[in-house]
Amino acid sequence: MIQETGWKQKSEEERKEIFRFSSRYKSFLDLAKTEREAASYIRDDLLRRGFSNDFSADRSFAVNRNKEVMAFVRGRKPITDGLRIVAAHIDAPRLDLKQNPLYEDIDIALLRTHYYGGIKKYHWVSIPLALHGVVVKTDGRTVNVVIGEDGDEPVFAIDDLLPHLSRKSQEAQAIEGEKLILLFGSIPLTGQDRDPVKKGVLKLLKDRYDIEEEDFISAELEAVPAFRARDVGLDRSMIGAYGQDDRICGYTLLNAITDCGEPDHSCLAIFTDKEEIGSEGNTAMKASFLNIFLYNVLDGLGVSSQEHTVKRILFASKALSGDVNGALNPTYQEVHERQNASYLGRGVCISKFTGHMGKVGANDANAEYVAEIRALFNRKGILWHTGELGKIDEGGGGTVAKYLAEYGMDIVDCGPSLLSMHSPFEISSKLDVFETYRAFTVFFQS
Ligand code: MN
Ligand code: MN
Repeated sequence: MIQETGWKQKSEEERKEIFRFSSRYKSFLDLAKTEREAASYIRDDLLRRGFSNDFSADRSFAVNRNKEVMAFVRGRKPITDGLRIVAAHIDAPRLDLKQNPLYEDIDIALLRTHYYGGIKKYHWVSIPLALHGVVVKTDGRTVNVVIGEDGDEPVFAIDDLLPHLSRKSQEAQAIEGEKLILLFGSIPLTGQDRDPVKKGVLKLLKDRYDIEEEDFISAELEAVPAFRARDVGLDRSMIGAYGQDDRICGYTLLNAITDCGEPDHSCLAIFTDKEEIGSEGNTAMKASFLNIFLYNVLDGLGVSSQEHTVKRILFASKALSGDVNGALNPTYQEVHERQNASYLGRGVCISKFTGHMGKVGANDANAEYVAEIRALFNRKGILWHTGELGKIDEGGGGTVAKYLAEYGMDIVDCGPSLLSMHSPFEISSKLDVFETYRAFTVFFQS
């Protein structure tokens, strides 16, 4: 087998196309820093590309609670022949504000957070953070909040201990979850004896956003890195940005489902939420939105929407779980097994299984199905390779593949590999972004 960087196989013209696609991808990353923002971007783009909420149409979609989207394209064959499904998740690790976050100490207003998903806590101190999310008032009004993205807007930050004084308390360079506290203000409100700084920021929240302290209780405010997606490397071959796990598959999937034309099989794109915390909750892959969506589609198309029909359709379906893998890290190669690792720049990565400690918790795709995908990608000239997430027993991870596999469909993990995965500045290869888009597209058309 030849295993080498995919750039060698790309002509000057193809490289230009890859860079054009990547620049649109970067704009998406800047506009979609939360699951809600990603869902609304996806909804707007689907509407622009001829999808509608009318389930009798050939291209339809639905949004679940502003956090999850499913999009359907009708194929030439009967839908009972099964679907071509690609699933990606649009949530990413972050710091959520607690429900009673605000307090004042030593003349500083501070906000307590509760981290979401797998983070290394030391990544989140001493970097500029923006606040994104919603505050829902008791009268049902929703205040949308984005602070810290425009050039001149203030950002927030978590104070770290200076090295001069951290010898004892941060011996292992460890940061505790309860210490991830945002600096939020420091000017006291005049004429106030008790908590004057806290009252100062509360007055600003009231004046600017009509938010009261109790409103935090019904809010979802997420602290995310305040910086934009950037090219990385002198040759601009890579992209550094927050949230590429898994909005990299979200964006490539959105483009694949809108560009798939009139496919043979009906196609379904799933943009799901809460993958990073185990796919639990009513906007996650384990919830019943997939069934509800398919009932609606079948009703719209005038096909029986009885439960057993939906079960048979899902059983006959073929799927890709679009999610990222951890690329071989050049300076920590010892946690990988090089022969079976995934590599930056070698195209989309097929992972037959994920899991930990002897494939526990994995969807281990069948050899017959891996052969089918391999043959398809070879036929269509997709640059691909295979990869496991790290050495045996080094750690592990999972994706939504196993939850879709419960329906009996064939499914395999397939997506680009990242460096610095789950950090505030994840690194992807522009070539891999583009090959993932091409891979999803040819899969929908298969
Ligand atoms: Mn992921
Ligand atoms: Mn992840």
